[in-house]
Amino acid sequence: MAEADGDEAPVQLDLRSGHSVWEIDSAPEAPRIRLDRDVETDVVIVGAGITGAFLAERLTRAGRAVMVLDRHAPETASTAASTALLQWELDAPMLELEQRIGFGKAAAVYRRSWESVRGIGALLDRLGLAPDFAPRETLYFAGTDLDPTDLREELALRRRAELPGELLDRDGLLSRFGFDRRAALLSTGAAEVDPIKLARVLLDAARSRGARVVSPILVEAYSTSPSSISVRTSHGVEIHGKALILANGYEMPAFVPATIHTIASTWALATKPQPPGVIWPGRALAWEASTPYFYLRTTLEDRIILGGEDEEITDAAARDALLPAKIPVLLAKLQKLLPAARLDVETAWTGFFGETEDGLPLIGPVPGHPRCYAAFGYGGNGITFSAMAAELIAGLLDGRRDPILDVLAVDRS
Ligand SMILES: Cc1cc2nc3c(=O)[nH]c(=O)nc-3n(C[C@H](O)[C@H](O)[C@H](O)COP(=O)(O)OP(=O)(O)OC[C@H]3O[C@@H](n4cnc5c(N)ncnc54)[C@H](O)[C@@H]3O)c2cc1C
Repeated sequence: MAEADGDEAPVQLDLRSGHSVWEIDSAPEAPRIRLDRDVETDVVIVGAGITGAFLAERLTRAGRAVMVLDRHAPETASTAASTALLQWELDAPMLELEQRIGFGKAAAVYRRSWESVRGIGALLDRLGLAPDFAPRETLYFAGTDLDPTDLREELALRRRAELPGELLDRDGLLSRFGFDRRAALLSTGAAEVDPIKLARVLLDAARSRGARVVSPILVEAYSTSPSSISVRTSHGVEIHGKALILANGYEMPAFVPATIHTIASTWALATKPQPPGVIWPGRALAWEASTPYFYLRTTLEDRIILGGEDEEITDAAARDALLPAKIPVLLAKLQKLLPAARLDVETAWTGFFGETEDGLPLIGPVPGHPRCYAAFGYGGNGITFSAMAAELIAGLLDGRRDPILDVLAVDRS
């Protein structure tokens, strides 16, 4: 059996700080399982965030025995910091993606992303649970990266890919939403959610089908071979299985041969609940085609969540120190967009954020490591990508290789 990562220490980052809005009244955690002896299972999933949760739900639904391992309590790492806009529109506009990978592949991945958001809603309907999931429209404002003419071209490409959308000018935006902006693409098909509740609902569904979620437990070494896999944990216990899925979030093990990803820092806040009349009609998710990036959404308690201001900072202390300075910057953007909004902050938080050069996730077989699969949903569509990863990896385990995996390959350049 090949040692996958030799003596390399596991990657451990200080992923986030501050309390996210979801932690204000989050429910008690599910009981945790500990391990004191070696065990066998079918599929080992490393990571009990939203990605591990989608995988565990999907694979137990397919009848597989699953064990999920996490060094933190489930749902408490990057997933708890997420602002949880479930968008099918990707970080890279179709205009940019078409230039990079061609229209056919760009259209395929955009359409797959659209189907993923729709699939999350359908799955929650089937499970009979709605963790604050609500379908939403999105507004994509013209900004420093795309002007109104670019948005028109973007819309033409999306329509060619049979995706929905319309272009609103300043008057249209003002009359329908009260936002004073030059132009925006208005699209259907997105949604919002509470990410902690969503991950819990999925993990609970997996547990009810026999999945074991073990924490806290650090995976220190990975071994793979053509016939089996195993991981060694900080407790000295080994877990053996037939497939290994890496859902470690931004703590990607060093043996994964990915070169197009980086870690950045991002900041977010939630206002106190807004008085009646402030929240815009339909509560569309909104984001801006600008660098730095800015986005907003509401919560069911009438809070407004703002986020963005990303910077290439990989030092947690430097990231945290900037939080007080980022709050007024985000609030000034809200005030400009929505002058009636109350600017009282309920909570603010910050975290690392994994990105790729093309804005797409890293999903699929890990080259050189048989029976090992990557599920890294980096980028602003992380949760949409987690759901996509669960579907694609479930297919791989059943012997079905979806051609979209070529576009998402871990070792693409
Ligand atoms: C501020 C912010 C805003 C965001 N907004 C959005 C948004 O609006 N929409 C969206 O779709 N996405 C958004 N994202 C991205 C999204 O939150 C992430 O893609 C998603 O939460 C990642 O989930 P995950 O399960 O892959 O990672 P995590 O939630 O970090 O879970 C991975 C788990 O793996 C565990 N782990 C790692 N290595 C090991 C090991 N060796 N042994 C044991 N356990 C290990 C970690 O402890 C962790 O719990 C945002 C992210 C941030 C930080």
